[in-house]
Amino acid sequence: MPFSKLGLKPELISALTDKGYTAPTPIQTQSIPIIMAGKDVVAAAQTGTGKTAAFVLPILQKLNNGHTLRGKRIRSLILVPTRELAIQVHENIEAYSKNIELTSMAMYGGTDIDEQKRRLINGVDVLVATPGRLLDMAHQRALHFDELKVVVLDEADRMLDMGFGNDIRDILDRLPHERQSLLFSATLSRDVEDLSVDLTEYGPNGDVVEIRVTPKTEAATSVSQWMIGVDKDTRSALLSHLIKEEQWDQALIFVEQKHVAAKLVAQLAKRDIEADSIHGDRSQAQREHVLNRFKSGELKFLVATGVAARGIDIGKLSRVLNYDLPFKPEEYIHRIGRTGRAGASGEAISFVTWGDFKKLCAIESRLDHLLERREIEGFKARKAVPISILNYVPKSQR
Ligand code: AMP
Repeated sequence: MPFSKLGLKPELISALTDKGYTAPTPIQTQSIPIIMAGKDVVAAAQTGTGKTAAFVLPILQKLNNGHTLRGKRIRSLILVPTRELAIQVHENIEAYSKNIELTSMAMYGGTDIDEQKRRLINGVDVLVATPGRLLDMAHQRALHFDELKVVVLDEADRMLDMGFGNDIRDILDRLPHERQSLLFSATLSRDVEDLSVDLTEYGPNGDVVEIRVTPKTEAATSVSQWMIGVDKDTRSALLSHLIKEEQWDQALIFVEQKHVAAKLVAQLAKRDIEADSIHGDRSQAQREHVLNRFKSGELKFLVATGVAARGIDIGKLSRVLNYDLPFKPEEYIHRIGRTGRAGASGEAISFVTWGDFKKLCAIESRLDHLLERREIEGFKARKAVPISILNYVPKSQR
């Protein structure tokens, strides 16, 4: 089905054509007409499905009506968990709105607040913001919500994981009741469902449409997933071996802790492999610099903590490695969603140690299949990972 069938304006369609999009993705086909009809939507869609365009395009279509804004006012608000995602969503908005008259801005913490205030003075049609900085602005009366027409909670599950629940509810309390509300989340957990009830409280009765494009058990199918059982102390040697012997072109490498990221970069450097890292202790400017090098292909190996890498869109990323297995199965799904995006194929590899057994079982149960196990010659684990149990339920949840 072509984009024109969805009822989008020619100016938007030509911008999509310039981006190289030929047809809408399933989440776009399902959500765009419903959002354009003015309904509230709660959608389960992970990163990589094209969800950003699914909510951005109807917003641009709706707001492009020559309306002039009062100062310090916004007409739509997209709340996102991290500054990286704010920048990325804003980049998409700029690309999609290049043929229409509309202002947009990304607002996030860790940068000069006065400069952002100045940009709000004339009002902004589409504001992408992280919750903390947005509240700061509202407290300082640099921003008013009385002209707001649409609010989006993007990656709602991540925002809740990061502890933004109260901030989001505080923000929702300040918004006009008459508005359109949209929520996108990789998972629709109980907490996300509760938040969606608060979000759509004032919407027209029964008008909330729930859309799911990701069946509970499905991770991106174009990603081949496999694991290697390994001892904790041989992981960096194994990684160097894989990079060199298997001639890896590029990899996003996930670790759980900041100090592990720095140590791994140093360990790889000793073996003549250039890598860099992004984690919470690096400044915004450093993070952006490293990310841009990685995106351009100049930097081949990026080590990231899960938090720092949230929402990052790297385009054609061929490989993701879980150097540390994540604690939550949802995090695993998010991480592997960084590769094989929008139809491209990718590979997601996990290093699994004996101590990771429970985490592995939880992930495999969530996926509803076991991960293929591969052995690398010379790296057989001294402490082997036991055979997995599917449908494993942690004791705390029995
Ligand atoms: P998202 O899930 O919004 O993070 O989007 C994932 C990637 O798919 C981004 O790089 C988008 O630019 C790209 N994308 C979004 N919609 C389409 C489409 N209809 N056709 C091709 N690529 C798309």
